[in-house]
Amino acid sequence: MTDRYEGQRRALIGTMQQRGIRDLNVLRAFDLIHRHEFVPEAVRHHAYQDAPVPIGFGQTASQPSLQALYMQVLDLRKTHKVLEVGTGCGFQTAVLAQLVDRVYSVERIRELATRAREKLDDLRISNVAILVGDGTIGWSRYAPYDAILVAAGGPEVPAPLKEQLAEGGRMLIPVGGRTTQQLMLVERQGNTFTQREVTECTFVPLLGRFGWTSEAS
Ligand code: SAH
Repeated sequence: MTDRYEGQRRALIGTMQQRGIRDLNVLRAFDLIHRHEFVPEAVRHHAYQDAPVPIGFGQTASQPSLQALYMQVLDLRKTHKVLEVGTGCGFQTAVLAQLVDRVYSVERIRELATRAREKLDDLRISNVAILVGDGTIGWSRYAPYDAILVAAGGPEVPAPLKEQLAEGGRMLIPVGGRTTQQLMLVERQGNTFTQREVTECTFVPLLGRFGWTSEAS
């Protein structure tokens, strides 16, 4: 659909391609879902910069090309069931919903979860379930997951998330300090987990039982 941001959105998709995003399904999903509809009004004019955008409550919507990298590395399929930790504004959730069968998303800040739910309902996206709670313990009810995306950085990979990965499943999670982390790819084969670094990154803290225990260090 044509809208006043179409040119900016196309330019962003060009930038994402220059930054190594080749998966056409991912690029198409970023074209279909409009980031400006998810971010607060005051920052809407920044919605199509390839940068994080503040979404309130001290949180930020992640950089689009990094979100796209997650989706490309995880090699998502239409049959997949995925867990997202950190719904935030719900933009990434909506993009994921175009690429996989079911999205289960956990957010600890109730107001953000409520807003994301409303937005997804407005867009008639019906293959997403959102839970308000601590995503470091995962969402055992719908496990195992083919892919897990963690959108906040913790000191280590939470054990429950590893347990909730399906056989052959993959997880991306920023691990490290409070200000910078390494984006880690964790893969499960049977009960063996392999782990490798994908890139350096900067995410808001993952707060919870298997994350950081408080806002400040
Ligand atoms: N994908 C989101 C990213 C938001 S930032 C977006 O693009 O909007 C990361 C989010 O993770 C924040 O909303 C924060 O509240 C949430 N978060 C941090 N720790 C969490 C936890 N343990 N469980 C669930 N959500 C968490």
